[in-house]
Amino acid sequence: MTALAHAQGATVEAEIGRISGTEDGMTVAAKEAKMTDPYQAKQFVAESRVDFLAVTIGNVHGRYHSEPRLDFKRLAKVRQQLDIPLVLHGASGLPALMIQRSIELGVCKFNVNTEVRQKYLQFWREYGKTDSKRDLLDCQKASTGAMQEIIAQKIRLFGSAGKA
Ligand SMILES: [Zn+2]
Repeated sequence: MTALAHAQGATVEAEIGRISGTEDGMTVAAKEAKMTDPYQAKQFVAESRVDFLAVTIGNVHGRYHSEPRLDFKRLAKVRQQLDIPLVLHGASGLPALMIQRSIELGVCKFNVNTEVRQKYLQFWREYGKTDSKRDLLDCQKASTGAMQEIIAQKIRLFGSAGKA
């Protein structure tokens, strides 16, 4: 995959370890989650030549059902072994301090989705109650606006505002 992608000027992000929760229709139970091993990560990146590596350090795809606990010592060890940008999936619902610490320890990209989807669904649930005669296109625009609010908050939280 990396050979094909790199030949076309594209990049590849891989996820190593097993993150609990649901992503793209695949569900992993919390007890089956497996943290990223720093040395295995190094070997994997050397062999696969991926451009970005998503780590498993206690992050969860989807909603956190208890207080999030991230293994920052593990993240620091992964960072020591690798010189490519690290990624954190399951960043929805992580407190700002954990986001800050992750950035300090080398995370360059966060994947967030759950709160954006929730906002979208919330918009349509409320719209359904109003019995509005508004045009569908106006509603779609408004639902996009509702999601944009969340996305703008996240861009600020990740320290990316004004950097595009
Ligand atoms: Zn993922």
